[in-house]
Amino acid sequence: MLTVFGSVALDTTRTPFQTKEHILGGAATYASLSGSFFVPVSLIGIVGYDFPQNYQILLENKMDTKGLMKHSEKKTFFYDSTFDYDLSHRTTNKTDLNVIENYEPLVPSEYTNSKFIYLANNDPDQNIKILKNFNRPDLVVCDTIEYWIREKKNSVISMMEKTTGVIINDQEARLLCNLSNLIKCGKQILSWGPSFVIIKKGEHGVLFFYKDDVFPIPGFPIEDVVDPTGAGDSFAGGFMGHLISKYHKNFLDNVDLVKESIIFGNIMGTFAIEDFGINKFININVNDIMNRYKKYKNLLSLG
Ligand code: AMP
Repeated sequence: MLTVFGSVALDTTRTPFQTKEHILGGAATYASLSGSFFVPVSLIGIVGYDFPQNYQILLENKMDTKGLMKHSEKKTFFYDSTFDYDLSHRTTNKTDLNVIENYEPLVPSEYTNSKFIYLANNDPDQNIKILKNFNRPDLVVCDTIEYWIREKKNSVISMMEKTTGVIINDQEARLLCNLSNLIKCGKQILSWGPSFVIIKKGEHGVLFFYKDDVFPIPGFPIEDVVDPTGAGDSFAGGFMGHLISKYHKNFLDNVDLVKESIIFGNIMGTFAIEDFGINKFININVNDIMNRYKKYKNLLSLG
């Protein structure tokens, strides 16, 4: 089982071609929906009184939502952003923390033995706090976003020190490390303690850092990009979901398995961006994922 903790949100997303207001979003939402194609998922988070019933039901149908609390007086976390014409550059217009502010996350007792934890983009102090509730997990992976790097950089670093792996995008890695070169950024993050680092480069794929090696893994080419929101979180859900489904002790030494999981992560990211919000995940199944995986492997001549 994959346990995901992080933001469940209402997003307003503006592209040069269309705007959608107050749609289901949030880092934990994307990661858990994506991961649920591979393994059972439990979601921990909080929403407000304005969270639509149909979104609640959608999540309940796809995963265990015992850890999803509802606040009766505060609004759901809200994120408003605009993408440029290239649909890769994003500007944040508004981040309303609402229920996330001063939230004391609660881990249901049945999740405390969870072995695999994804700390999706969220207040790093809350991520550090929640980790204390788990009994010796085998794999803890985290992500972050510009907002938290600007607001709480030291907490972001101490969160990363406590993880097995860090997944972060290129712009955020540069901002966090105050370095221009991504290889230097990856190595700096590794030096803080995690066993591996994955730097996402949008349509250009990822860099995977493990021990002294840096593996470049290209992205799967997508023509019809609609809304890039959540690509990173969907990457993380697919990556962790596949890894966990094949998990064994010392899995990191099986670099081929990690690379294969990265490819599944890339594929889940490409599905996320083909429609607004989480819509694409409602309309695909495991066959669609496997077909794209085969296509991807053929493109890379990986047999
Ligand atoms: P991504 O496009 O993968 O970077 O993730 C976008 C998702 O993260 C959106 O659905 C937002 O609701 C969520 N998000 C944006 N800013 C924050 C933040 N400061 N804390 C937690 N979640 C956020």
